[in-house]
Formats: sequence, structure tokens, C-alpha cells
Amino acid sequence: MTRIKIQCRYIFVFILLSTSIFGMQITHKIWGKGETFSDYLQSNYISANLLASISKDDQKFLSEIHSNNRYYELRDNTGVLIQSLIPISEEMQIHLFKKHINSEYGFDIIPIEYKSNDYFAKVTIENNPYTDTLKAIKKPEVAERVSRALKGTINAKKFHKGDEIAFIYTQRTRAGKPYTMPDIKVIRVTMGKKEQFIYVDEEGYGYKETSSSVDPSAISTKKLTYTRMVSVNKKNSIFSMPLRHTRITSSFSYRRYHPILKRYRPHHGTDFGAKRGTPLLAINSGKVIFAGWMNGYGKVVKIKHDRSYTSLYAHQSRIRVKRGQKVKKGQVIGYVGNTGRSTGPHLHLGLMKNGRWINPMKVLRKKAIRVSGMKKITKYKKVSIKDTKENKEKLLNYLAKHKPSYIWEKEYKQSVTLQDKYMHKKKVLDDNSSKSN
Ligand SMILES: [Zn+2]
Repeated sequence: MTRIKIQCRYIFVFILLSTSIFGMQITHKIWGKGETFSDYLQSNYISANLLASISKDDQKFLSEIHSNNRYYELRDNTGVLIQSLIPISEEMQIHLFKKHINSEYGFDIIPIEYKSNDYFAKVTIENNPYTDTLKAIKKPEVAERVSRALKGTINAKKFHKGDEIAFIYTQRTRAGKPYTMPDIKVIRVTMGKKEQFIYVDEEGYGYKETSSSVDPSAISTKKLTYTRMVSVNKKNSIFSMPLRHTRITSSFSYRRYHPILKRYRPHHGTDFGAKRGTPLLAINSGKVIFAGWMNGYGKVVKIKHDRSYTSLYAHQSRIRVKRGQKVKKGQVIGYVGNTGRSTGPHLHLGLMKNGRWINPMKVLRKKAIRVSGMKKITKYKKVSIKDTKENKEKLLNYLAKHKPSYIWEKEYKQSVTLQDKYMHKKKVLDDNSSKSN
């Protein structure tokens, strides 16, 4: 196995735990379970006036801080909080900062800065792709992603000892630590003398070229037909719409730039325009885990479904379910309204998968595939995967060369250089500012 770091755009820096710079302390912490933003302000002796000064529009983001998320703090040598960066998604974070010495705090929501590096890996198969990748790379996340990409495209039973997989993956890092799941870009599978290329979509699912007759030069065209076997579980895979008639008025975005306000504000859901009093329907069966008022979102119902999905229905005029209640798909759970921060009656539908907001339309729009129970089917779908040609070339290039192995651990040991200017109000304690020189 060889693993080579093939791209690094920046000099690597790592904020050490409790690094002391100019008497300032940078630390990372884990957001506690059940901890609220208001608790956080209180524990830092920050006046509740700050909370009141946050626009209603931004209040809803306060409820989107997830427990167990890592956040960063900068404190002066007396322990006073100077800055905090608290993620609300993989893309955006709350920026809480002391405006001037002995004055009040400011609040903003800003994009998270991260770096992205590509890595190359070659793994010889002895048992199966998961076990062998884990053994070679020692990163369970990478092994998991490799096995997800191969599932449905390659029959793992057909691997023989000595077969090989080679791939490129991207890992995001934030302040020197791996951040979010790695993305596999392309995998070359060699079984005996047969070579196949698998391309991987945003969600980590692999697609192989439909046939060897596909012109390699066509690989870069955006829409290509790839095949993969999809296993469909009828009970869980079908979500239905939250309204009988739907009209989307605002769509999902992790980083939406507001051209007039000149700032980023994400939109963690899909808005549907509807008259006040229109019944809201559960998009799938599940259990009500929240029914009540949520700042910014007004009257809210949250339902936990199977397969790690949670749906949220905001701005309701009236809630019709109670916490702990079990609901069926299509059941009326409340009515469209205008509560919380809302410019007119509408439904804001949020959908979370494994603790992360995802675009609800990606799931709601999926057409139901008629199968009885669990069954493997071959489904042809058009997927658009970016830079397939470039990634294939890159992989072939690195397979042709023999670069020295890249050792991951190196990047963890780099030290940080922070300069005085980064302590000031506009500056952000982040990868951006921790870049050396
Ligand atoms: Zn919305």
C-alpha cells in the first residue's frame, strides 16, 4: 500500500489545545447536550441584551447548534471570552466576538473556512475492500466510504486475493483536524486482468461506466448514464409531500449569499407557500419529539422517523400533535401559519439525516420504486458527477508515478502562528487566520 498526498494548497497549521499566543488562549470544546446559546452567554457573563439584539431571522439558527459539535474559543489571559466560532452546519457558524476592550459583544453568522486535500491510496485485497482499506489507511471513515462506493457496483464476492483497488479521496480539515466525511472521487478496481472505474456522487454512492464502449473523452460530459444496483426498502424509502398541493417559494441552501445584505445566511429547509390553516401532513411515519415554540421558527413540530431522519415543520398557526405521540405518514400534525420569523403564511420544512440538515426535496422528489419488500433491482439513472475525467487522469497519473508514502499524522503536529491582528474584532479565529505568515 502506498499513500501519497497529492495536493496541498496551503501550509498546514494546527491550533494546539491551549496554545498561548500573546497571552490569549485558543481552545476547542464540545457543545454539551441540551446546552442552549443563552446558557452559553450566561456562563460567559455576557448580557442577555445580546440575545435580544439578534434578529428574529437569525434566532432560528441558535436552535441549530448540535450537541457534540466541536467549536472554538479564544480567551484572554484573564479567561474573558474574546471570540467563539460555533458551527450550525458543515458550512456555516455563529461568530460571537467582543467588539472592543470593555465593551459589548457582537453576533454574526459566517461561512466556515476549511481546507481540502486530495489523497491517493492503493490497497491490495486480502479479505474485502472495507477491512483491507481500514488496515492500510487506518481511517474507518475512508474504509466506510470505499465500501459504500463499491456497494451495488462491484460484486465483492468476486474479489480474489491480490486484486487491487486504487482511489483518490478528498478530506476537509478545519484547524488541522479532519472535518466532515472524506469524499471518494474515483476508484479503479482491478480484478485479475479486468480494470473498472467507479465514480462517486456527493452522497458517496458509486457508479460505473455503463459499458466499455463509453468513449473515455465523453466521461467529462455532465450527464452520463451509470449503472448501479439499488436495494429498495419500500417501507422506509418513500416520503410524501407535507401539503396536498405544493408550491415551493424558497429552496434549500447551505450557503446562501444575500446580495443586498451582503452576507451569508443559510436556509436549512424548503419553504412552501400556502394559505393559513392549510393542513400539514407528516412526510413519513414516526414519533413526535418536539411540539412547541422555537425562536424564529414559531410553532414547530419535529418528528423522528426511521433511518435516522428527522423532519421539522415551522411557522404553524396551530399544532395538532403532542410530544411523544406516534404519527402515520400523511397524518395531519398542524396547520400552516405565520408564527415566528415569517413574512407571510408558509411552511418551512426542515429535514435532518444523521444530525445534518439535508435538502428535503432530494428525498421528497425521489419517485417510489414499486418493488415488493427488499429486492435488488437494476436502476438506470442519470447522475451528474463533476470532474470525472480530471479525477481519472489524476488517478492514472499517480498510479504511474511512485511517490513516497504520505503520513497523515504529520499534519497534526504542525504548530500554529497567530498574529496580533487576528485578535481584532473583524478577524476570525479560524483556518484563515491561523495560516502561518
Ligand atoms: Zn424557510
